[in-house]
Amino acid sequence: MSHHKPNTVQFKAGERNIFFHILTACNLSCAFCYINPVHHGRRAVAYTTLMKWLHLFYDPAKVNNLIFLGGEPTLYKHLSHAVQFASQIGYASITIDTNGYCFHNILERVSANEAVFSFSLDGPTAEINDALRGPGAFDTCLANLKRAIQLGFTTSVIYTVSRQNITFLVDMPPLLSELGVDRFFIQVIGLRGKAANCDTPLQLAPHEWLCTVPAVAQKAADLGLTVIYPKVYIEPTESFACAGNVAENFFIFPNGRVYRCPLCEDLPLHSLRVENGELHSTTGLTEQHLFSLTIPEGCVMNKLLQSNNIPYDSDGRPRYRISCCLLKQRIDPLK
Ligand code: SF4
Ligand code: SF4
Repeated sequence: MSHHKPNTVQFKAGERNIFFHILTACNLSCAFCYINPVHHGRRAVAYTTLMKWLHLFYDPAKVNNLIFLGGEPTLYKHLSHAVQFASQIGYASITIDTNGYCFHNILERVSANEAVFSFSLDGPTAEINDALRGPGAFDTCLANLKRAIQLGFTTSVIYTVSRQNITFLVDMPPLLSELGVDRFFIQVIGLRGKAANCDTPLQLAPHEWLCTVPAVAQKAADLGLTVIYPKVYIEPTESFACAGNVAENFFIFPNGRVYRCPLCEDLPLHSLRVENGELHSTTGLTEQHLFSLTIPEGCVMNKLLQSNNIPYDSDGRPRYRISCCLLKQRIDPLK
């Protein structure tokens, strides 16, 4: 079968992506949870605050994409109201990233034209998935994913690839295609939160990623899915860009911290904070200072936090440059 080639989704001027962690609590306790209560707090955003922040981060001159995250965002009892409120403000797209438990009847309380649901699955079977995400997670997620599809929602599945589950990635496209999922997001494990302190090696070597992920992505596109996965390694002819300099992404936490780079979220490097309903720049050393550094390895934060994925030649030159973690490859299925 002939197929489309992956396209690099360049950072778009005129677009703003708001990743809003509305709470940090979760019913699961995944092995590699990225939430770090020391830096993200333990509370939820009060609903009145949430409404103010939705206004604060909305830029009428831009296309604003909103992603509700947690913890588990569907534990937030006002989530359906938050979706409706954001929709009225004018957010162009609203996505709910869920672990699949879909609390508070969220699938019945939001309509298919208001939000997209993104379900997290880290394995194609209960055995693989639940070893990482906890007993019962697979069956519950699958049941609610089917329900969301039945109700007419656009759905995606996010699979976070690590050494623990890369072998099983190949079994995801047939499963998702059979279910009727629209989009498949393949994510790479970041050494943040619990993953940063794990004794088991999780990070993939370049050959592990490059031999597996693009081929599985192609297979998924052949089966009718839109596939999005991180670029990770930049071709020698391609230029490097840090999203912190050229894109508008805001990663908001309930304690008021606002990061521009998700790799910084385990550290007090946030460049912005919300205080008394206003957005302020943080003083001292912040992520902003790192964005302007130019190094042969590409992404500065990757080099600082997870440099084991960069092999060097005998002259000490990196064999690969690492792209911004927010730069994606996208394959659309043939119509
Ligand atoms: S579902 Fe998400 S927030 Fe909850 S424990 Fe797992 S990774 Fe953490
Ligand atoms: S991941 Fe790297 S390149 Fe991307 S915003 Fe963060 S520091 Fe910049």
